[in-house]
Amino acid sequence: MNCSEVRTFLHGYVDSELDLVRHLEIEDHLGTCDACSQIYRAQVVLRSALKSDELYFTAPAHLERQVRMAAQRTERKPWLPRLLTREWIGAAAAAAVVLALAVLVGPMLSRPTLTERTAQDIVSAHIRSLMPGHLTDVVSSEQHTVKPWFAGKLDFSPPVNDLSGDGFPLVGGRLDYAARRPVAALVYRRGAHLVNLFVWPSASTGDLAETADARQGYNMLYWTRRQTNFWAISDLNTTELRQFARLVQDRLVPVPVR
Ligand SMILES: [Zn+2]
Repeated sequence: MNCSEVRTFLHGYVDSELDLVRHLEIEDHLGTCDACSQIYRAQVVLRSALKSDELYFTAPAHLERQVRMAAQRTERKPWLPRLLTREWIGAAAAAAVVLALAVLVGPMLSRPTLTERTAQDIVSAHIRSLMPGHLTDVVSSEQHTVKPWFAGKLDFSPPVNDLSGDGFPLVGGRLDYAARRPVAALVYRRGAHLVNLFVWPSASTGDLAETADARQGYNMLYWTRRQTNFWAISDLNTTELRQFARLVQDRLVPVPVR
């Protein structure tokens, strides 16, 4: 890809909307081209700035009082014909309603939910991990090697289980970033398929039942258990991904023997 092609696709690249091949081509180009990677960095900054909470406002109560007082003052002006004044107030009120709807409801409709943002983060992180050299920070099939590796790197200790006995050998782990925080990424393998399991503590005490999602050709399952969020993602079929999720959940909460 040349610079002009890369720049055409850069928005899609920043939003992780491209197919893997094109994504990798752009990644390669950005690694060697300073001019394009400068534009890329600027777009990433702009994108995160546009997502920022500081851009969303709720109209304060004193603004409503000011608008009402201004409307009353206009009504009292003696040199304006009464009809015109009423019309003006009507138009102003209509405009105010439209403005209030735009300001208050617009962001609610267009603003992605927390789960939506997290799903986007997880897909991006998964695709990034599939690029050469990005998959693992610690390569080991030993849970006793991978688990301690996270100590001191995260403010929590992720549950790490080797599931090779069940056909999902542990490949390793790495630090990643999703849901606006550092998270643990555990990598498992199923034949030729890789599964990323993202783990981080949940702020709420309630559990969330396993939920399925699919984006950009990847299947996802997420759930919350024991105040821990889990997101599994893979190009594996849903049946096998569910099997993987079940194994992870069973290891976390052992079934009591009767
Ligand atoms: Zn370039």
